[in-house]
Formats: sequence, C-alpha cells, structure tokens
Amino acid sequence: MTTSLMFPLHLIDGAVLRCPFCSGEYHHLDGHIRIEPGNDRYDADWSGRGDVIRIPFKGECGHCWQLCIGFHKGHQRIFTQAAIHEPSV
Ligand SMILES: [Zn+2]
Repeated sequence: MTTSLMFPLHLIDGAVLRCPFCSGEYHHLDGHIRIEPGNDRYDADWSGRGDVIRIPFKGECGHCWQLCIGFHKGHQRIFTQAAIHEPSV
C-alpha cells in the first residue's frame, strides 16, 4: 500500500497556515470538508489506521492542498497533503 506524501504544518506566528510547497500565505477553501474512513485498517490515504478529516485549500500561489487531521489509536495527527483532483471525463 502506498500513501500520499504527508507534510508538517508550516505556520506564521503559530497560527497562519503556509502552503506546504512554496510557503505562500494566501489560501481559499476549495470544496467541501470531507471525512475519509480508515476503517481501523489504513484504508484512508495517510499513515494511520483511523479516519482522516480533509479540508481542501487552493493557494493564490496556484498550489492545491489539504489540511488533514488523522485519527490513530487515540492520537490526532495534523498535517497537509497535496489535493487530489479527479480528472473530468
Ligand atoms: Zn504554494
């Protein structure tokens, strides 16, 4: 099983999110918040067993990424991943 790359949070003054790819600081929500089930067996696309909450952003820099909170054995891990866009048919 492969997992999309996970990046640590980059913050300004401990509170303002930066783009995980270029450190840009201006972003906008880019779609709906969703919960991906991990089913306690690593089914969600991250390194933990549990569910992950994904908040999609598009930066004014042009990068699309997700703020994620993953649940694993009672721990909550917060990180970012590249946004995955389904190709239009
Ligand atoms: Zn960027």
